[in-house]
Amino acid sequence: MANPLAVCWLNGRILPAGEATVSVFDHGLLYGDGVFEGVRFYSGQPFRLEEHLLRLERSARAIALTLPLGLAELGAAVRETIEAAGFADGYIRLVVTRGAGSMGLDPRHCTRPNVFIIADGLTLFPEDKRVHGIRAMIAATRRLPADGLDPRIKSLNYLNHILARIEANRAGCEEAILLNARGMVAEGTADNVFIVLDGTLYTPPPSDGALEGITRAVIIELACRLGIPVRERSLAPYDLYTAEECFLTGTGAELVPVREIDGRRLTLCPGPVFERILSAFREQIRAETEPHPDDQLRVPDVS
Ligand code: PMP
Repeated sequence: MANPLAVCWLNGRILPAGEATVSVFDHGLLYGDGVFEGVRFYSGQPFRLEEHLLRLERSARAIALTLPLGLAELGAAVRETIEAAGFADGYIRLVVTRGAGSMGLDPRHCTRPNVFIIADGLTLFPEDKRVHGIRAMIAATRRLPADGLDPRIKSLNYLNHILARIEANRAGCEEAILLNARGMVAEGTADNVFIVLDGTLYTPPPSDGALEGITRAVIIELACRLGIPVRERSLAPYDLYTAEECFLTGTGAELVPVREIDGRRLTLCPGPVFERILSAFREQIRAETEPHPDDQLRVPDVS
């Protein structure tokens, strides 16, 4: 059910999210022609906003979509939306569609992209699973090959991830992991995959079909700072089954440990490497978003 507190910035206007609408001729809706970002905010401050905006800009450029606003204006719109929402912690969905056009595919008929920014809550996994770990399965649905749709583009096309998610639902699992066409691990349906083997952290390279996750980059940064060896390496299902630890990372998912993959129990869940990374991650969020005495006015009142 829609959150009555959710708000939406739509082409410059703030509205209750339930009242924000776009045309049925929008190619974002008709063809998945558009790009988006998910951004978390904590204490009224968006986390890693600049990185998200830069990725949005690259995604838009890759699909030949000219953003109708500069990144500074988009950043200001994100902050305005958070302020209008009035809650301290939540999730932002920033979407740029090709805009309304004619029924054919040709994007030349879409003259004005639509931009909307929703501020809402988002809990991808129940709290007990976040603590004790989720059950994951490897989906039969494969990640689209990079020569079809480059995994670095965060586009509105999520259908194969949704098909994988349906597989997980049917199997009674909380998440599905997609392999690429070569059978190597790509990513989860909305998150990146990390495993621990012999104390080293491994994650698949983007060339294996992983989105260049902003959370993934933060985890790599924190692991380096903590002295935990971390490598990008292709991973086979075997590596997942035999890992000491496995966890998923994403803006929506945040950090969630995996306790079982295709019925194989992992040795440690939550494991010591995950615990160290999780506490460093929380500390990093606090350091980057905690209100400072001189910017009291910018933080919404949540009392
Ligand atoms: N992979 C996919 C397919 C995703 O949708 C997401 C969520 N944006 C991620 C990975 C994780 O990326 P991020 O940490 O930037 O949210």
